[in-house]
Amino acid sequence: MNVLSELQALLGPDGCLAGPSLEGLAQRSDASATGRDLPIALLRPCSVTEVSAALEICHRHRQPLVPQGGMTGLAGGANCRAGDMAISLARFRGVEEVDTVSGVMVVRAGTVLETAQKTAEDAGFLLPIDLGARGSCQIGGNIATNAGGQRVIRYGTVRDNLLGLEAVLANGTVLSHLSRVQKDNTGYDLRHLLAGSEGTLGVVTRAVLRLRPLPQDLETAICALQDYSAVLALMSLARSQVTLSAFEVMWADYFELCGGMRLFTEIPPYAVLIETEGGGLEALLERALEEGIIFDALVAQSRADARRFWDVREAALPEAHVDDIVNFDVSLPITVADDYVQACRTAVSKAMPSTRSFFFGHIGDGNLHIMVQVPGCADADVHAVDQITYDLIRDMGGVISAEHGIGTLKRDWLGHSRSQGELAAMRAIKAALDPAGILNPGKVL
Ligand SMILES: Cc1cc2nc3c(=O)[nH]c(=O)nc-3n(C[C@H](O)[C@H](O)[C@H](O)COP(=O)(O)OP(=O)(O)OC[C@H]3O[C@@H](n4cnc5c(N)ncnc54)[C@H](O)[C@@H]3O)c2cc1C
Repeated sequence: MNVLSELQALLGPDGCLAGPSLEGLAQRSDASATGRDLPIALLRPCSVTEVSAALEICHRHRQPLVPQGGMTGLAGGANCRAGDMAISLARFRGVEEVDTVSGVMVVRAGTVLETAQKTAEDAGFLLPIDLGARGSCQIGGNIATNAGGQRVIRYGTVRDNLLGLEAVLANGTVLSHLSRVQKDNTGYDLRHLLAGSEGTLGVVTRAVLRLRPLPQDLETAICALQDYSAVLALMSLARSQVTLSAFEVMWADYFELCGGMRLFTEIPPYAVLIETEGGGLEALLERALEEGIIFDALVAQSRADARRFWDVREAALPEAHVDDIVNFDVSLPITVADDYVQACRTAVSKAMPSTRSFFFGHIGDGNLHIMVQVPGCADADVHAVDQITYDLIRDMGGVISAEHGIGTLKRDWLGHSRSQGELAAMRAIKAALDPAGILNPGKVL
């Protein structure tokens, strides 16, 4: 039997889609909109046993296989090349257990993040992983990208909330370590190796995630500031006075594009969305006003108000939609973020006057996002913008990806952030776990 017949026999007609049944499915590209090819087949296993058996077949036939989650990634990591198959865990979904004594939940990889969040909330807990794509992205994709998001400043990245992991290696071997304990020093930490591996080392099937108490007295405000030294002063004051759960900075270009005029009558040079837990936000803002750190602020009086602020930050309003956007997701020391923004904006517009750049980010964690509108998005133009952006980030001591990962779009620039020795170690790990190179080939390395 050929590979497709074997997979069809294993997974049945609903578990293995091929040919015309793939047309119209969203499997062609992730949210970077750079994918061109549909997979030749989409595997949709319903159990870990099926995932393992499907991988064993692909491995034996040397069939390249791309894990696909909610397709919200921004690095091209879930896109297929011609001839690749894809595997989706969308049918292996759901929260298996909320263990309120240990404060953990056991979740299947195909579960949409928002579903897992709601299940945790119904049980009286917070699942602290959160990002704008919550309604579509899946837990497996979140783990495979080690997603960050808005609340990293308080709760860390996915990795920091991952206690146990189950994944299937390229040859079908199931690694199941669904540990619920915080202390686990039993040899190499394969959980952290697989988290952030972008589908190149194994297919994530299940996870044990940490839960936290639901935040009390969650308060949200949006502040107007005159310059970046004020942003740093506000950050410093906030760190010493309140428990921050978000500190999101929007430069004027981004704030204006995303609907800032709905909040302030004039666009301030810098807008900061602050979210705190446990109270104290109004006192903080009063002091910041007195000290001249901020010159205006809106405090949310309801969840709907807070949502309005977040809609601007998350570019969720219609006016925020622009075509031909190239996304960047860099990390750098907070103190130099504005120097980087100014240098990057100037260099990009000098080299390519037809572009427009927009800057924002989870600056509390040193994570800056850049959207550059490159009319037409020709490969050579995108490469030129990449070069400017990444050369500057290397020169200023940052890294080329904070949270979206490398995928294909940043693969050629990985050497800007990793040494030759580190790259060789990564290649050795890949060769050891996937000697035939079938899992997500061409991604990351
Ligand atoms: C509006 C919007 C806002 C976003 N905000 C953030 C943010 O704040 N922080 C952030 O970190 N990201 C953000 N992202 C990017 C994206 O949502 C995350 O990277 C997310 O974790 C991807 O999950 P996914 O299920 O969509 O994965 P996909 O896009 O389907 O895949 C991403 C990668 O994971 C691999 N993968 C998927 N499922 C599995 C699996 N089960 N096993 C192994 N590998 C797998 C894929 O091969 C690919 O390499 C945002 C995206 C959008 C569109």
